Amino acid sequence: LADPHPQKLLSELVSVQGVTGQEENILSAAARICDSLGLTPQVTPDGIILHVKGQKPGATLLFCSHLDTVPAGEGWTVAPYEATIRDDMLFGRGAVDAKASCAAIILTAYRLKKEGLLQGQWVGALSIGEEGNAPSLPRLLDKIGPVDAAVVGEPTQMDIATAQRGLMVLELETRGKQEHAARSKGVGAPLLLAQDISHLSQIPFPRYHNLLGRIRLTPTRINSGIADNLVPPTATAMVDVRTTPVYTNDEILSTVRAAVTAKVSVIADAWVPCEVSHEHPLVKTALTALTDAKLFASDAASDWTFLQKQNIPAIKLGPGNCLFSHTADERISISELTDGLDGYTQISRQYLRYANSRSLE
Ligand SMILES: [Zn+2]
Repeated sequence: LADPHPQKLLSELVSVQGVTGQEENILSAAARICDSLGLTPQVTPDGIILHVKGQKPGATLLFCSHLDTVPAGEGWTVAPYEATIRDDMLFGRGAVDAKASCAAIILTAYRLKKEGLLQGQWVGALSIGEEGNAPSLPRLLDKIGPVDAAVVGEPTQMDIATAQRGLMVLELETRGKQEHAARSKGVGAPLLLAQDISHLSQIPFPRYHNLLGRIRLTPTRINSGIADNLVPPTATAMVDVRTTPVYTNDEILSTVRAAVTAKVSVIADAWVPCEVSHEHPLVKTALTALTDAKLFASDAASDWTFLQKQNIPAIKLGPGNCLFSHTADERISISELTDGLDGYTQISRQYLRYANSRSLE
C-alpha cells in the first residue's frame, strides 16, 4: 500500500470547518480519516488520541496539536475552506495553524504503525479549544497517562522552540470621586489610571531570561467615562503581561501592585512560561534529525503550557510559517508539509530508540 499523500490529507482537514467551540465536524472528519488509515483512534469529546505501542514497554513520546481554528474573517482571495492549491501552496483557514501539524501527526502514526515499534509508546493527541479559553489538552493528558517527552505541533518552520513566554492578564482599576468636570481637582479616576499606565514600562523587572529577554507589559484596553462634563468614579485598563520563566506570576503581581495606585486583579494566569534544557535528549534528537533546524525562543503561548505544568519536557515544532496564522489567505507550501512529516517521523524513531536504549542500561 502506498503512503497516503500528505497534501490530500491536509486538504481533507482544511475542507472541514472547525472554529473553536464548534468542533463536532472537524472531530468526526479527523476520526474518520484516522479510522480509514487503520489507526484505531480513541475518539473523545475532547479530541482524538492515537496510540502506537511497541512490542516491549518503555518510554512514551507524545505529539500534540489542535484541530480547532480561529474564524475565517475577511480579505481572502480564495475560498477559506476549499484547500485551494496555487504555486505549491495550500490555502485555507487552519492550513498552517495547526492542521498541517495535525496531518503530520496522523501520518507519523501511520508510518510508525506500518513499520512497527520495538519498544516504548508513541502517542498522538489532536485537541480542540486551543484558540479559546478552554483548551482540551489537559483533559486529553489525563486520559493518556504518564508521558516522558512531548512535541507541540505549531508552525515554527521546523525550527525548535526551547522556551516560550507565558501570558498573564491583569486588570488595573482606579477609583475617584464622581463630580462635575467644572469643579474637578484634577485627580479623577481616568487621570490616576493614565499615570499608572504611563508608569508601567518603568516598573523594575531586572532579571533577564537568556533566550526570552525581559518581561513585557502592554496595556490593551482602557475603559472609563460617562459623559463629557462628568468625572467618572472608576477607570479600568487591561494589561497583557508576557512572562518568562525567571519570575513567578506571584512575584510579577506583587511588583505591579507595589508600583501602581490602582487595584490590581488577575484576569487570566493559566499560561505559564515554558522552557526545556538544551541537554535534554528530545532537543538533541531533534537537532540530529533536522539538520537545518535552529533553536529559538517563542513569544506566543501555546498548549505547551499544560505540559509544563505537569513537568513534561517538551519542544514546540511544526511545519509552516506562523506569520500566516490567523491571517486571510493562510497557507503552507506542500514541501514544508512533507518535510515536517519526515521530521516528525525521524524524531519519533530516534527519540524512542535513544530513550529506550538508556532505560535498558
Ligand atoms: Zn495554533
